[in-house]
Amino acid sequence: MIRVTVWNEFRHEKSEEAIKKVYPQGIHQVIAGFLGQNEDMTVRTATLDEPEHGLTEEVLSGTDVLLWWGHMAHHEVSDEIVRRVQDRVVRGGMGLIVLHSGHASKIFQALMGTRTDLLRWREDGEMVRLWNMDLTHPITEGIGDYFELPIEETYGEHFDIPKPDDLIFVSWVPGGEVFRSGCTWQRGLGRVFYFQPGHESCPTYYDTNVQRVITNAVRWAYHPNVPQYVTGWTRPLPLAQSK
Ligand code: ZN
Repeated sequence: MIRVTVWNEFRHEKSEEAIKKVYPQGIHQVIAGFLGQNEDMTVRTATLDEPEHGLTEEVLSGTDVLLWWGHMAHHEVSDEIVRRVQDRVVRGGMGLIVLHSGHASKIFQALMGTRTDLLRWREDGEMVRLWNMDLTHPITEGIGDYFELPIEETYGEHFDIPKPDDLIFVSWVPGGEVFRSGCTWQRGLGRVFYFQPGHESCPTYYDTNVQRVITNAVRWAYHPNVPQYVTGWTRPLPLAQSK
């Protein structure tokens, strides 16, 4: 079983009526709802206002793949928890899926090492077409050449990310911008996927293609049997004792 934790800042849905209408129980509950229908996944949720943001040592050590949605309160996420999540990715091999405005989160910046908050954006209710750039990648399984969302926030290049290991999606909008909207990176033992759609006022997480991409990404980011390795001062290895 893949042990999944869906983390959400969970502020917009409590403070703004229009957004509460789209996600009455919070974005995390919708994501946990569709992921939880997979027989190979057990899913829990965690939110910013829980003690330790819901990401205790116990929760993280029992998480194989963590999803991250945040926007208005990135600065309220404690540096100690960010280090804990980073360590769990890099040394523990936990997968991390960063969603939408999570591009500006502390954890994504810590793992990327660039100003990932820098990109073009506008909120005009435009449609977006996401082109599948990697037809054989596990994350795009069941997705055709492209799919469209009728309404989404517009993000555009330049996006200040390190060069991705795999470029999975490029978005196009009628306004002319393009955007690297699906990217992967290996960080230590952990796999990271960034996926752009998911503005809080848009019903994006109800879309079947979006759900398929996120479901595929969870399976891709799952990395059981993480190798053990030795670092630091060590004695010389004995000779002629091959395994
Ligand atoms: Zn947004």
